[in-house]
Amino acid sequence: MPTYSYRCTECENAFDIQQSFTDESLTVCPACEGSLRKVFSPVGVTFSGSGFYRTDSRSKPADSKPAAAAKTPAPSTPSFTSSTN
Ligand SMILES: [Zn+2]
Repeated sequence: MPTYSYRCTECENAFDIQQSFTDESLTVCPACEGSLRKVFSPVGVTFSGSGFYRTDSRSKPADSKPAAAAKTPAPSTPSFTSSTN
């Protein structure tokens, strides 16, 4: 059963609750009966420690510059200008 995080927009009350997919989302704060807002940050993921920076390193190990240089089809069409007219 997934755990959902809610946060109140009125009193900043935040809590986690286990709900099934078929359960309705909570909309009323149990503390102040204000409007609840669903928090989509996954529960159980710790952002402290090593591993968090891995999402930031998107640079590929292969360089993209030689691939763009090989894209130039210069010597492929030599008879284009001579066959005109
Ligand atoms: Zn509240």
